[in-house]
Amino acid sequence: MARIVQKFGGTSVGNLDRIRNAARKTAAEVTANHQVAVVVSAMAGETNRLVRLCTDLSRIHDAREYDTVVASGEQVTAGLMAIALQDLGIAARSWLGWQIPVETDDVHAKARILEIQTAELDRRLNNREVAVVTGFQGVSTRQRITTMGRGGSDTSAVALAAALNADRCDIYTDVDGVYTTDPNIVAQARRLNRITYEEMLEMASQGAKVLQTRSVELAMKHRVRLQVLSSFANPVGSDLPGTLVVDEEEVLEQEVVSGIAYSRDEAKVTVIRVADQPGVAAAIFGPLADAAVNVDMIVQNIAEDGSVTDITFTVPRSDLHRTRQVLEQIRNQTPYERLITDANVVKISVIGVGMRSHAGVAKRMFQALAERGINIQVISTSEIKISVLIPEEYTELAVRALHAAYGLDRP
Ligand code: ASP
Ligand code: MG
Repeated sequence: MARIVQKFGGTSVGNLDRIRNAARKTAAEVTANHQVAVVVSAMAGETNRLVRLCTDLSRIHDAREYDTVVASGEQVTAGLMAIALQDLGIAARSWLGWQIPVETDDVHAKARILEIQTAELDRRLNNREVAVVTGFQGVSTRQRITTMGRGGSDTSAVALAAALNADRCDIYTDVDGVYTTDPNIVAQARRLNRITYEEMLEMASQGAKVLQTRSVELAMKHRVRLQVLSSFANPVGSDLPGTLVVDEEEVLEQEVVSGIAYSRDEAKVTVIRVADQPGVAAAIFGPLADAAVNVDMIVQNIAEDGSVTDITFTVPRSDLHRTRQVLEQIRNQTPYERLITDANVVKISVIGVGMRSHAGVAKRMFQALAERGINIQVISTSEIKISVLIPEEYTELAVRALHAAYGLDRP
């Protein structure tokens, strides 16, 4: 007997047939004598619709009320899922975030989970009742409904799995696992049987949209065994593996590079001719941080004559406007000659824990791009990742070239 948390994403509960299909997957686990908690997203498209209702009514609205509105999508699917399970003869009930409760901070629209009270859920799971839990939502210390940011039900599921000491957290989605890269771009992309937490974290934060980044962080921290699998491909009852997200020791044959990710949500900013002296970087990036702009890649060159330099960095595209505003505001105290911004860029990353122990990974990347005549604008690296910023129009070409260069193409 195992304790399993299953999470069904929006497309997996997108209509009543799909909800029935999801319920059958839950029923199969119950029949196999497992204890199951199910976390559900809102039906596909529903959260977008709810968000639009808020923004159409008022562009600048109370985030607490926004949460009250957008959390409702999950309430509907939790109830429907419980009904579908009962229809199959399975004991089940729905649980809203506040009923458990899933306690969060009060940073509305991107709340973080503080604690999940599990005593009652524990008791019921032990009694073989399926708990159907709303993803995405919780309740703040001020007793208001909160939501955890778009894609947050992945995080709900992992947090619940950790709190319930579950043996596994199965994330059912519309793809059958994590791929070496986006199969829409590279037809020869392969599904990975296993990927390490660290790689998955990089893949998630570098634009591969399978799991919310925060959920992978949590899984890594609490060592939750995560499995990403399709709710459509697998016949009920079969346990065709999707992708397991696991510790490094569990990955037997480690490739040097496991995947290629890309993110179009990037904009490049260059501050031309700022003073090259102590405190300048702090004077630029301090106010940006205070304005909640998340700066990613940063390059600064050595000044030619030791007096002025250029600084280039990237921000999310949606923050470009705010970034310009901040830089204009600081111009009096931190003078520079001018600003250049470019939103037509893409960040391409090659990711793999094998890089730690292999040389020549960067060289292969640069050569592959050079052979296609693609100019690299910015480079950044971490222990297990190399990222380059290139013009957006080369996205597909670059991803395909790199996928082939690292031998990832399906034979
Ligand atoms: N329904 C929410 C969203 O669309 C949460 C989720 O599906 O993960 O962002
Ligand atoms: Mg999702």
